[in-house]
Amino acid sequence: MLAAMPPSSSKPRNGGETHIRDRVRDRDDACPGALRLHRADDGGLARLRLPTGVLTAHQVAALAGAADRLGDGRLGVTSRGNIDLRGLPDDCGLALAGLLAEAGLLPSAAHERVRNMVVSPLSGLDGRGHGDARSWARELDALLCARTWTTALSGRFLFAVDDGRGDVAGSGGDVTLLAEPDGRALVRIGDLAWRVAGDDAPRAALAAAGAFLAVAREAGTGAWRVAELPRTGSLEAAVTERLADAGVAAERTGPGAPVVAAPPEPGVVGDRAVSVVAPLGRVTSEQFRALAPGPGDEVRVTPWRGFVVAGLPGRAAAEGRLAALDRAGYLTRPGSPWLAVSACTGRPGCGKALADVRADARPLDAAAARGLPVHWSGCERRCGHPQGDWVDALATGDGTYEITVRTTRRDNDAQAQK
Ligand code: SF4
Repeated sequence: MLAAMPPSSSKPRNGGETHIRDRVRDRDDACPGALRLHRADDGGLARLRLPTGVLTAHQVAALAGAADRLGDGRLGVTSRGNIDLRGLPDDCGLALAGLLAEAGLLPSAAHERVRNMVVSPLSGLDGRGHGDARSWARELDALLCARTWTTALSGRFLFAVDDGRGDVAGSGGDVTLLAEPDGRALVRIGDLAWRVAGDDAPRAALAAAGAFLAVAREAGTGAWRVAELPRTGSLEAAVTERLADAGVAAERTGPGAPVVAAPPEPGVVGDRAVSVVAPLGRVTSEQFRALAPGPGDEVRVTPWRGFVVAGLPGRAAAEGRLAALDRAGYLTRPGSPWLAVSACTGRPGCGKALADVRADARPLDAAAARGLPVHWSGCERRCGHPQGDWVDALATGDGTYEITVRTTRRDNDAQAQK
């Protein structure tokens, strides 16, 4: 069934002029989901979106069980805070869908791939930030799932919901909500921004996404992301119109200062939470269960391949949990050089890989000296690379790598051309 598109204006945005543009995408979005598995060299890959980033202890147990019963006994956490299961057999779809639905992780089968959000993971835990990012994320997710046209968004379109501390506002979101000290929100799309009332922020983000779809459809270039839209100025008019249609009072403003993504440091957070990082973003089911052994534990998945465990009864419990997670193999202290290291899947899981990237990945002194993260990739797609400036370790053969520094500007240029 074809998804309905968002309502569009009867007025041509380019004055009726017909543009013939090169397509930036010449194929459908094949991004994996929880129900649409990607066939990798090590079996099926399922990717579960977690819009608010939050898992209950029951859901942690359910996912660990799924990895054991259906997959390879491991779970991956992606640079968008999604959870990957790998090594799945071709015929596991029904069993996996049933398990996820039972755990409350599949509210809408039609929308499961478009619920892409990164949310400030420490929101409400450490006294920083200006708003409750999780409530905005919950409301935005409900709005996304309640509309048919939103299924036309690609599996790569990303919402970033930042509580004002500036941690995920620099994560490359297509639409970003940034809480402001006075309770209002900045709504960014591309290099455009509007200021809206805090209560209107989720509806404003939805309106911005609808404007993107309308402009992308009109451009006819197959864009999946805002950076891929042609720079015609039609996006501003489309957003303004859709904000008005949604009844959102919005003030056009500047995008504010650039924000660099900032992961939480490992350790105790406040008195009732801890922050840890999964080395290279993969854990065993046993390590995953160790995050939430108590029924009241709440696990927040971060877009930096880490986890925040909240809901602990006090400081002593938090310190005890941190020690237990250290023994389980998580990175639990600031300063570990492995915090700055990430890697794609590489061989043997990915057929495109030139090397066993995860076995080769290691901290690089040159990157550490410049304060940059290093990302190891098995091919030029560089899956899961960081935002901002980073050191690129790109396989050129089995065990050989080219090391270069990539900057935000170069990444943006590359992304616009992908
Ligand atoms: S970067 Fe290349 S080798 Fe690595 S997972 Fe992506 S496609 Fe595979």
